[in-house]
Amino acid sequence: MSASTSESVPPIAAGKKIIVIGAGIAGLSFALSLCKQWPTSTGHEFPSVTIYERDTKEARTGREGYSLSIRSDGLSGGMQVLHRLNLLERILRASISFAGNGSFNLWNTTWESVLVRVYLGNGTTDECDILIAADGASSKIRTQLRPADRLTFSGVVCIGATSRFDSAEAIPRPVNRDWGAVLGGGGVGLFVSPVDSRSALWCVSYTTDQPREKMRHPLSEDQVKFLLTEALERGNHFSEPFQTLVRATDPTTLMVFNAMDKQPFRHDSTASPGMSSIIYIGDSNHAMSAFAGNGANMALLDGWDLAEQLCGTDSLAAALRAYDEKSIPRSKTAIRWSRWVISMMHATGWKLFLYTLLFKAVMLLMRWRK
Ligand SMILES: Cc1cc2nc3c(=O)[nH]c(=O)nc-3n(C[C@H](O)[C@H](O)[C@H](O)COP(=O)(O)OP(=O)(O)OC[C@H]3O[C@@H](n4cnc5c(N)ncnc54)[C@H](O)[C@@H]3O)c2cc1C
Repeated sequence: MSASTSESVPPIAAGKKIIVIGAGIAGLSFALSLCKQWPTSTGHEFPSVTIYERDTKEARTGREGYSLSIRSDGLSGGMQVLHRLNLLERILRASISFAGNGSFNLWNTTWESVLVRVYLGNGTTDECDILIAADGASSKIRTQLRPADRLTFSGVVCIGATSRFDSAEAIPRPVNRDWGAVLGGGGVGLFVSPVDSRSALWCVSYTTDQPREKMRHPLSEDQVKFLLTEALERGNHFSEPFQTLVRATDPTTLMVFNAMDKQPFRHDSTASPGMSSIIYIGDSNHAMSAFAGNGANMALLDGWDLAEQLCGTDSLAAALRAYDEKSIPRSKTAIRWSRWVISMMHATGWKLFLYTLLFKAVMLLMRWRK
């Protein structure tokens, strides 16, 4: 039977070597959370933690080309984790909402609001007691060890980019301030968001049976022209400033990607000793599409919750059980939510009518409760 640790019973991670694969949000959240929650007063030996990252810092910065909503609602709670890590103030200072006081919105096609708002790459090897797989949605570790546990296409292809402007004033309203989705595009979705004082992003999405070949920088001039024309044609239901945004596209940020997700899985504490000490966190366990607006929040929470278990429990099996109890239900909910958002953003006809009605009802309820 497991026990909460005390001065005499060391936490499962004490004196162990932990390797984290992936310095994304989940991996970094875990490492920082472990430092923050380690019971220093008990004198137990802090584990040795090594983080391996595939990309250089230069390659990573700006590579993804999208904004992240970090949230504080009951399900998500990414802000709360950042607060516990003493990082919230720094993140807020760098965020869109801090600079412009903007907020999330839902618009119709004429932009009227419908809602208030470890073999290593160098050929060497490394060993550890606990391996944290935090290597993202296309996790190589998961692909090797759980080959059948693949990403599933959520039925939506996205074409998106960042648009650059000469000055803050040149960014068209309302994208200079607010971010959110545009409803009623005849089955085509649009998400827009400010990025910084001279940039905003747009992402057109459409439903289809088959995923499409992913495309990103470097693209030929013809490919850029083709994709921008396609985006304008698909988004022909949307009025300005959509066209202005597309025309101001920075071609190096243009990309085509598929909305993919996968259900979370439980860690098997009865597996062979080697296998039971591989712990999957963040997207490597439960990838969710951008439509969830929640994968980064889940990654932050996973990092915190796993560290809490490794700092406070003397048995790996118990730690994994307790961790899964927290991580699995919330990520399942977030994935369900993402599917719902996909349906809502691409709705037409009576479905669109019902969704719009629902949002108006929510808006009235929120005003009434104020
Ligand atoms: C367009 C878009 C919009 C999004 N918007 C939001 C949002 O608004 N809010 C939100 O909460 N989430 C959002 N997300 C989701 C969010 O970005 C992810 O869920 C989150 O980044 C997952 O964090 P992670 O650490 O698990 O994985 P990642 O952030 O993918 O990090 C994995 C890391 O592992 C590294 N790596 C991979 N393979 C290896 C290897 N073999 N060896 C070493 N290192 C490796 C990678 O380089 C990377 O640094 C969005 C995603 C997309 C695509």
